[in-house]
Amino acid sequence: MSAQLQLPYPATVPAASHPSSAFTTPTCPADATASAVGRSALERRARLTAKLAKLAATGQLAPLTRQIAGLGGCAHPIRLTGHRTHLDTATGEILNHFDSDQLPAGELLVRCGNRRATRCPACSTVYRYDTYQLIAAGLRGGKTVPTSVAAHPRVFTTLTTPGFGPVHNQPDTGRCPCGHTHPDNDRLLGTPLDPERYDYMGAVLWNAHAPALWARFTTHLRREIAKAAGLTQRTLRHHATLSYAKVAEYQKRGQVHFHAVIRLDGPTGPTSTPPAWATTQLLDHAVRTAATRTRVHHEGEPPKQPQPAGHIPASQPQDSERAGRLVFRFGRQIDVRAIRGTDFTEGGPVTERHVAAYIAKYATKGAETTTGTLDRRLRLLA
Ligand SMILES: [Zn+2]
Ligand SMILES: [Zn+2]
Repeated sequence: MSAQLQLPYPATVPAASHPSSAFTTPTCPADATASAVGRSALERRARLTAKLAKLAATGQLAPLTRQIAGLGGCAHPIRLTGHRTHLDTATGEILNHFDSDQLPAGELLVRCGNRRATRCPACSTVYRYDTYQLIAAGLRGGKTVPTSVAAHPRVFTTLTTPGFGPVHNQPDTGRCPCGHTHPDNDRLLGTPLDPERYDYMGAVLWNAHAPALWARFTTHLRREIAKAAGLTQRTLRHHATLSYAKVAEYQKRGQVHFHAVIRLDGPTGPTSTPPAWATTQLLDHAVRTAATRTRVHHEGEPPKQPQPAGHIPASQPQDSERAGRLVFRFGRQIDVRAIRGTDFTEGGPVTERHVAAYIAKYATKGAETTTGTLDRRLRLLA
């Protein structure tokens, strides 16, 4: 085992300020808008410089810089005001008094801690590194987890979304079914080939039911493991426990895939040895069977979808058991791989480091980075 943990990504310095366009004279005099934008940026910069000069003259700039530097580049620090006093309860003597007014910024500033890279590059980087270390420790030990955990059965699995109609894509071989070869930044990628026939309702409802599908999957998984071990679900916990870490990855078409690290431990968790029957093969089989069996029923009647004349739905509601009832399940493509140690050099199975980096990456990504949309919660105007 390597003693030196290697971070999945190079440490990046978050963008602080970019004095670029503000100092660029618009090259096209006819472009009045660009010129106005340049001027207002210059004016803003001039105002900021004047304020900084004033702070420097009163000796406040250095302490303010130190306070801001403590935020590690957070883009949207949380601003807090208030005070705290420590008293000796016996004597009433004031031992310590803190007031946010006395801070250089006049407020207490704390990191926003947002895990999404689009919201705060600095905080999401910290979150990604933390996630990496957490997952890595769960796979090879460290951070209070014994190294013996590396010998426990564990797999890396990907559970997918079923299809709701063909979309523009970049197949490994050949062209998109539309006849074109789409470049990486093509906005058409992930959009339906035939919007009239795409099952939008199914696609949206599937995402809405994804958390319930995952929860149901974990129930099935415990059931399958117990069955394979000849135990009941109730008695399983006296022999083995299940630990997992999962992330959702948004695809271009806007659907989520789940990636998860699943580990089988002894009865008291990572510190206890799993029973002899708990093998990687058993876990692999249980994950596949559980994923295939997982179903979630849509509550109530599905909303009516406007149907154009002559419309034939591209895909029938999944496994519709009776009219007016939708049943959701995972896609047929279920990937389960054994996780090998970092010292395992043969090709094929994924290593602990790959898995930790993968989970950490998707923990800091939302739909916005893949689909270019929906970075914020939708709010109705009326
Ligand atoms: Zn932040
Ligand atoms: Zn296409």
